[in-house]
Amino acid sequence: MKPEILERVIYSPEEIAARVRELARQIAADYRSGGGRDPYRRPLLVVGLLKGALPFMADLTRAMDIPMEYDFMAVSSYQGGTSPGEVRILKDLDSPVGARDLLIVEDIVDTGHTLDHILRRLKVREPASLRVCTLLDKPARREVEVPVDYVGFTLEENLFVVGYGLDYAELYRNLPYIGVVKPEYQER
Ligand code: 5GP
Repeated sequence: MKPEILERVIYSPEEIAARVRELARQIAADYRSGGGRDPYRRPLLVVGLLKGALPFMADLTRAMDIPMEYDFMAVSSYQGGTSPGEVRILKDLDSPVGARDLLIVEDIVDTGHTLDHILRRLKVREPASLRVCTLLDKPARREVEVPVDYVGFTLEENLFVVGYGLDYAELYRNLPYIGVVKPEYQER
């Protein structure tokens, strides 16, 4: 049953699965072709941003036929009082990333502050390469410029969406589709 907060479904499970398979093929081909990659370097380290990237990362990586390891980071934006865009690290990576190829997997890039913060933190650890894959992108809302290498779907309008990892007050992450939240339920 469709939750009361939802206005409409924008991406069905079938549409998501098809796009995720396409992305996976493209990413795996890019890493396979290597761009001068040293074959003795350690496997790709896929870094999922908790919690929103969970279903996307699971589906994406299972469709990528290349050696890889998983790691995770959890971040949260400061609420209220502090300056907007400030980001707090709740969980850092388990693995050292120096000289490794890193692929960040994100649910959605909105203002770009979260990703900007993460990229800055990771760059100083000197990975061999650092790429970003996001399921959804809202370029119209960008406040800081961030490099995004792979995008599942671009949202042109300022829509607040839930499902397939994305939450509304921690709920609805498990919806198999992506839906738009009704304006009356949106905080902004
Ligand atoms: P940014 O730092 O780019 O502004 O925000 C990124 C984070 O904001 C995302 O990881 C996500 O948690 C949240 N976010 C931004 N837009 C949406 C949206 O449309 N729906 C949901 N559920 N979360 C969003």
